[in-house]
Amino acid sequence: MDTQRPLPKPDQDSVAYWEAARRHELLLQQCSACNKFRFYPRCICPYCFSDKFEWRQAAGRGTVYSFTIIHRAPFPAFRDKVPYVLALIELTEGVRMMTNILECEPNMVEIGMPVEVTFEDVTEEVTLPQFRPAKA
Ligand code: ZN
Repeated sequence: MDTQRPLPKPDQDSVAYWEAARRHELLLQQCSACNKFRFYPRCICPYCFSDKFEWRQAAGRGTVYSFTIIHRAPFPAFRDKVPYVLALIELTEGVRMMTNILECEPNMVEIGMPVEVTFEDVTEEVTLPQFRPAKA
């Protein structure tokens, strides 16, 4: 039985994103041709197909676009975490990011709720950008 929490495996497109997360920084790729932000990290802009981009520090703020409350753990590693919130966050930069909402009772989460990034150091090597209700 697998009790290890599944963790991201950085590839050449996402290694800068994950290294920044370890420093508790949220980076997004911004296309140098059309200026649009994108997430997840990838080598080609999904809007104009340019391969030129810059890493930009995200504001780390957004709103809950949609969410669900997980009551049954999908893997044994999540048994001690239920119930938890799996949410899609729309960042102020316009991209949407799948995440958990921490530091909040699951039944208090609402669509449109302002949230801010927080960082969960899972192991020595992996830090997950997560979100929590925005402080006023
Ligand atoms: Zn573009």
